[in-house]
Amino acid sequence: MSIEPQLYVAPPELLRDRIILVTGASDGIGRALALRTAKLGAQVILHGRNVKKLEKVYDEIVALEHAPRPSIAVIDLATANSVAYESLADKLAEEFGRLDGLVHNAAIVGDRFAIAQYDAVQWQRVLHVNLTAAFALTQVLLPIMQQAADPSIIFTSSSVGRIGRAFWGAYAVSKFATEGLAQVLADEHRDGKLRVNCINPGATRTAMRLETFPAEDKGLLKGPDEVLAPYLFLLGPDSKGTSGQSLNSQ
Ligand code: NDP
Repeated sequence: MSIEPQLYVAPPELLRDRIILVTGASDGIGRALALRTAKLGAQVILHGRNVKKLEKVYDEIVALEHAPRPSIAVIDLATANSVAYESLADKLAEEFGRLDGLVHNAAIVGDRFAIAQYDAVQWQRVLHVNLTAAFALTQVLLPIMQQAADPSIIFTSSSVGRIGRAFWGAYAVSKFATEGLAQVLADEHRDGKLRVNCINPGATRTAMRLETFPAEDKGLLKGPDEVLAPYLFLLGPDSKGTSGQSLNSQ
């Protein structure tokens, strides 16, 4: 019987002994995913740019019963250079020797203007944080992902990264490119054990959503905890053999 990723129910201890890095784990979907994966037994590396917010998530995980103690990795994706990425990869190699899961979740929306008015500096910034930083991080972490028995990379997309929509500018373009990056990487590893997939979480009640749709009825939106099923599916062993796919949370 095939599994429907949107409806996936994670068994307890699904991620036991797995080491999983979540970018943008300080808030929103990344925070919810970090907490849930820790509950399921993963040792989570909490990535973000704001130490205080990351420490709060760290404390929440430590307070959970039986969750492995997480780690914190502070890198501002807007400004980090290759030295920062390499030193993270070296640290993880030294401490764990492998990485089982990598979730590229951090992103910014940037300006929502027509292409005719879109500011070029803002354009570069959005593409850098949402796309180029994920490329750079993936590249340095691939060697330790190859050391894992069942490695999985997840990129985060959006509905505007599948069908272009007016005024979504660099954000939409960065998500289209993210889908492309995931497909290219998946194809490069089609004969190996590494799986690479994209998830569109759909409209979710987070700071990003509130910033872009301030007037909408928040009560109608799913919370970050309610969109995690396909992430858990892809991070655990039930998704072995699933690669190059674009999944939806809702
Ligand atoms: P949030 O704005 O709630 O969280 C974004 C996370 O990314 C935060 O942890 C934020 O850190 C981090 N981040 C942003 N910029 C940087 C940076 N320069 N360096 C390091 N970390 C950074 O967003 P969501 O949880 O809503 O979004 C998560 C993902 O889901 C994104 O990829 C988004 O595009 C996608 N998505 C979300 C939808 C939604 O409706 N919410 C719909 C479709 C896709 P900090 O806490 O410091 O700001």
